[in-house]
Amino acid sequence: MQDKIAELRRHLSPIYDLKAISYLLEWDQSTYMPPGGASARARQVAFLEGLRHERLTDPALGRLLEELHAYEETLPYDSEDASLIRVTRRDHERAVRVPAPFVAEAYGHFAQTYQAWMEARPANDFETVRPYLEKSLDFSRRYAEFFPESEHVADPLIAEYDYGMTASAVSKVFAELHAELVPLVKVVTNQGEADDSCLRQRFPESTQWDFALEVIQRLGYDLRRGRQDKSPHPFTTVFSIGDVRITIRVRERDLGEALFGAIHEAGHALYEQGVEEGLEGTPLAEGTSAGVHESQSRLWENIVGRSQPFWRFFYPPLQKLFPEQLGKVSLDTFYRALNKVQRSPIRTEADELTYNLHVMIRFDLELQLLEGKLAVRDLPEAWRERYRADLGIVPPDDRDGVLQDLHWYWGFVGGAFQGYTLGNIQSALFLEAALREHPEIVGEMEEGEFATLLSWLQEKIYRHGRKFTADDLIERITGGPLRIGPYMDYLRDKYGALYGV
Ligand code: ZN
Repeated sequence: MQDKIAELRRHLSPIYDLKAISYLLEWDQSTYMPPGGASARARQVAFLEGLRHERLTDPALGRLLEELHAYEETLPYDSEDASLIRVTRRDHERAVRVPAPFVAEAYGHFAQTYQAWMEARPANDFETVRPYLEKSLDFSRRYAEFFPESEHVADPLIAEYDYGMTASAVSKVFAELHAELVPLVKVVTNQGEADDSCLRQRFPESTQWDFALEVIQRLGYDLRRGRQDKSPHPFTTVFSIGDVRITIRVRERDLGEALFGAIHEAGHALYEQGVEEGLEGTPLAEGTSAGVHESQSRLWENIVGRSQPFWRFFYPPLQKLFPEQLGKVSLDTFYRALNKVQRSPIRTEADELTYNLHVMIRFDLELQLLEGKLAVRDLPEAWRERYRADLGIVPPDDRDGVLQDLHWYWGFVGGAFQGYTLGNIQSALFLEAALREHPEIVGEMEEGEFATLLSWLQEKIYRHGRKFTADDLIERITGGPLRIGPYMDYLRDKYGALYGV
């Protein structure tokens, strides 16, 4: 059977490469490409995506998988060959379900919708983009029809990001989290806001840039297999296990932007740099789901990067870099500023505690849209209503309301949001397990050492790539299913101490 496995790998390698080449073109577009290159670049990426889809849906690949079926049955679930066959089959079967002309038509429409949104958001003009969004919603429902066995219309969309999760499973976890989070946010925000003016002074860009790079290298981000560049929206991209790049954005008057952006993206990148080299060139060489990916970016950014032990080590060198700005600011004041909680309308600027409320609002609204219970024209009002109920504020306008996130305006409606909060929940589950085995991790952080934590994550999560689903990983690591307990404990401990509640 080894010759068949070799044949499978030969078939898969160009699919992997086509994706990497598209990513490279997109990375270039977001960093260095002049605006004049946009339309040709869109055409080039679409061409490559078409080729990739063709290879992935090739009937020859289906036959090869069929021939390997009996062999797969003889192997344990966690063997590399079995995983390779299983995950390839999943990708192949999902791709075959959706006809190529539908994909081309839908993505053509999404490109136009994105353009319309780019103009509508600054103009605070939901009405112009509304017909586009209605059509996108229609495409999303039609997409779901290619998976008629699904229990809920959102399930096939959720599976694209968080395979194994369903609308009902996510709703159940979110309802529990919502019930515990809303009162906690209320109690904390009633204590009065922390003062974060120390972060809003003038911090020269190049010093911020260098400090961020130094911090993430210390966490374990390997610059021989990565690099840091600037882009308007920070992201991580992967051309191979040996080339995993991040981008960040620097703001002179916001010390958190570059630093926490870098730590967040480095968390994604550590995951991708940690995939076992033997998986290169296969569909296994990638983080397993949006949720698990986000669990890593948030674990490093929030649980590690916004913690006291972390800053006991990093604050003195930061003060040396900015003696005028921070020389007289105590570690305690600085730590409180970094963890300021406030009711604000914008998701991407939200603190750790309120962030999940923003995500759950979007998830619930998109389910209602997909179910046909909410019309697109009533969406702005539904949005305001939920913000009033959950956060006690009403966004000043649609620009900072229903138009604020690009997710609904550049692809299918559904699937793209739940991963952020699943990731937060998972990050605490994973860290709890790591600390149980290695309580010394906290003391090491105070010394600026992260090797024990990183190698534990590497061993348990990173090296496996897509071999295991999120549920598999959670079960293997924690011995149980996804649950919110450890995450709520983490939030209560941290914010209880910070706000004296
Ligand atoms: Zn992220």
